[in-house]
Amino acid sequence: MDFRLTEDDEMIRTTVRDFARKEIEPIADELDQNEEYPFEILKKLAALGITGLTIPEEYGGSGGTFFQWCLALEEISYACAGTATILDTSWGLAAHCINEWGNEEQKKRFLTPLAKGEKLGAFGLTEADAGSDPAAAATTAVKDGDSYILNGTKVFISNANEADIHVIFATRNKSLGHRGMCAFIVEKGTPGLSIGKQYHKLGIRAAHNAEIVLQDCRVPAENMLGPEARGFSVALSTLDGGRAAIGALSIGIAQAALDAAVKHTKERVQYGRAIAHFQGIQFLIADLATEIEAARLLVYRAASLKDRGQPFTVETAMAKKFAGEVAMKVTQKGIQMWGGYGYMMDSPMQRYFRDAKIMEIYEGTSEMMRLIIARRVIG
Ligand SMILES: Cc1cc2nc3c(=O)[nH]c(=O)nc-3n(C[C@H](O)[C@H](O)[C@H](O)COP(=O)(O)OP(=O)(O)OC[C@H]3O[C@@H](n4cnc5c(N)ncnc54)[C@H](O)[C@@H]3O)c2cc1C
Repeated sequence: MDFRLTEDDEMIRTTVRDFARKEIEPIADELDQNEEYPFEILKKLAALGITGLTIPEEYGGSGGTFFQWCLALEEISYACAGTATILDTSWGLAAHCINEWGNEEQKKRFLTPLAKGEKLGAFGLTEADAGSDPAAAATTAVKDGDSYILNGTKVFISNANEADIHVIFATRNKSLGHRGMCAFIVEKGTPGLSIGKQYHKLGIRAAHNAEIVLQDCRVPAENMLGPEARGFSVALSTLDGGRAAIGALSIGIAQAALDAAVKHTKERVQYGRAIAHFQGIQFLIADLATEIEAARLLVYRAASLKDRGQPFTVETAMAKKFAGEVAMKVTQKGIQMWGGYGYMMDSPMQRYFRDAKIMEIYEGTSEMMRLIIARRVIG
């Protein structure tokens, strides 16, 4: 597989890199410390066309590829993984599944404002007793005339508080298991939809997470996303793309941590020499650089397969698992190379380390990715 970047790919990567290094990186620590949601940055990313990058032109986007989306996310995550998480959730999950599963009317009404960055999206799948096993979801959808009445609570939802457009998964019959699941578009302000507990997190603190509470929330039947019995497919197919994107976020964090580690080892003098001269440090840097490159290639392969319309469930699981674990390893070793300075809250390494951990958890844990991979390998 050839991953040479086209002129357009290069242009998008350079544009996003320049923007992220100039506008996001300098304020990333502040956003993290204050748990501040980067509204202004999102507006500027919308003006750059990043929010609508993969959305067709007829719905206000620029019709780019998923590969380009991953390139953009990698660059944004290099600067701030919290901001990259907001983008992945709103446009990689919510907008993406409306684009893939929505009808013409739904796309015109909901996708276009998302593409233009006028509205934000959230993706509500997880519940207290349905995390790795989303088919166990207990939120109910009961048909009542031309509407469905939703009842239940979604937990940990990124952008819950800020989103205008929520994609919510609910079951119309729990005894049907995953076949009972349906997907709905629920607009902010719909009576019965409210925000519950807000969480404070270890990392990606620029992104906000909260519960979505649905209490007799009446949603017009025309807001059902995809066929009634296919809600689970809506969720899984969307997460397939999301997982490659999380791989891209992971590479961004890992590369930022490695670059910071290399810089430090060239400046830090012990035993009369910069510590980068010691072979123990050099071998570590060589190993980490190689693992980041391997992760990048897995992500690029998964993204390319998606763009070609080929199956990529296993490849995206491999990309997410490997890249997430590489991010964790590089950030942990990065702190080690910074020594005591890396342990201090004013070093850049601690944020990378805290941000990296979620890469092994959300959109399917590393263990779930192993199950997907093992099923293919063992049969
Ligand atoms: C910061 C953050 C943002 C999130 N954003 C969203 C969002 O926007 N939308 C959304 O719907 N969800 C979101 N989530 C939820 C996230 O996807 C889940 O937390 C994740 O899927 C894991 O589910 P869980 O937390 O219930 O863990 P559990 O499923 O309880 O897992 C606990 C542990 O058990 C392991 N485990 C479970 N089953 C098995 C098994 N069969 N074999 C081996 N090991 C197993 C898991 O790998 C894990 O290590 C978010 C979570 C966080 C923390």
